[in-house]
Amino acid sequence: MEKQRHDAQLAAFVSVMKERDRQHELWGEQQHSLSEWHTLLSEEVGELAQAINETVLVNRTKEKDKGGYDNMRAEAVQVAALAVQFVEYLDRHYKQEEKQS
Ligand SMILES: [Mg+2]
Repeated sequence: MEKQRHDAQLAAFVSVMKERDRQHELWGEQQHSLSEWHTLLSEEVGELAQAINETVLVNRTKEKDKGGYDNMRAEAVQVAALAVQFVEYLDRHYKQEEKQS
C-alpha cells in the first residue's frame, strides 16, 4: 500500500518537475511582485477550474475540448509547478530578509 502511494506520488512529482523545467525554458527565472505571483497562480487555478467544469458540467461551454483527464491533469501539474516556482522565489528573496533582520 505504501509503495503504491509512493509510486503515485513519484509519477506526480516527475510531471511537476518536467513542467517546472518547461516553464524555466520558456521564461527563465521569474521575478514578480507578490501581487503578480498571486494573480499568476490564480490564473492557473482558474484554468484548472475550467478544465474541471468542462469535464463535469452538464451544460458545458463550447470549449469542452478543454475538459477531460488529460487537461485536468495538465492544469493541476501547471498549478503545482508554478507553486514550486513561487516557493523558489520566496526562498531567494524572503528567506534572506528574515536572516538579516
Ligand atoms: Mg494552465
